[in-house]
Amino acid sequence: MAPEGMVYLVGAGPGSPDLITVRGLRLLQRADVLVYDSLIHPDLLREVPTTAERVYAGKRGYCIGSTLQETINDVLVNRARDGLCVVRLKGGDPCVFGRGGEEAEYLAERGIRFEIVPGVTTAIGACASANIPLTHRAAGQSVALVTGHHDPDSDECEHDWAALACMSNLVVYMGLRHIEKIAAKLIDAGMSVTTPVAVIERATLPDERVVDGELGTIALLVRSAEVRSPAIIVIGEAVRFRTSLNRWAFAAHNA
Ligand code: SAH
Repeated sequence: MAPEGMVYLVGAGPGSPDLITVRGLRLLQRADVLVYDSLIHPDLLREVPTTAERVYAGKRGYCIGSTLQETINDVLVNRARDGLCVVRLKGGDPCVFGRGGEEAEYLAERGIRFEIVPGVTTAIGACASANIPLTHRAAGQSVALVTGHHDPDSDECEHDWAALACMSNLVVYMGLRHIEKIAAKLIDAGMSVTTPVAVIERATLPDERVVDGELGTIALLVRSAEVRSPAIIVIGEAVRFRTSLNRWAFAAHNA
């Protein structure tokens, strides 16, 4: 009988390769198979043994025509059934807008052992890097993590904009493409046009860029700065602290 294999769904952290957890790194170093996404830093790929099989499972923006989720799922199941140690490495945290939950369900339904290893999700990593203290007591009492993937005018988008507009702070993943409509929906729902907003591109990486603005102006500023994916949108009073903190904060990614 083949030895029992195992799948580790590991979060790689928000970008910089040294922001993975110690546990995640140790698992990489003993992986037989690595299945990884497009936003994974190349330095992390070098941590797996040279003998390990590497499978690229990139499907940036979930585009049609890119690697199918079923193919990824089958690789995970088949390699684990061969008794191998499989590391499924995903950007940020595997279960925050990362389909880690779906992959875990798939494995569970087939009786494959797995473990979810958390990672620093982009919202947390990007805010730390940009000096935004997300839950500063003077910045309100709530944060929502929101996907901006769907066109706000389409049926796929299920957001209750009025509810979102009541949150003290919002962090929008995958929202760059629809930033105009996202800002407009929040303003229509009652959020002030002067609410501070920061859009953080390539957070925690050496070429990180931050575009600062207000809800009423941010879309224009982001387009004229030609911000590209991956980028995350932070909306709310916590963003205001950037100005005073920036002066003395040491940016690790610029070191
Ligand atoms: N599981 C991931 C999110 C995957 S969704 C996590 O927990 O962070 C992909 C989205 O994450 C991108 O569209 C972008 O909004 C955000 N993102 C990922 N890496 C980023 C980075 N280095 N800088 C800014 N945004 C990033």
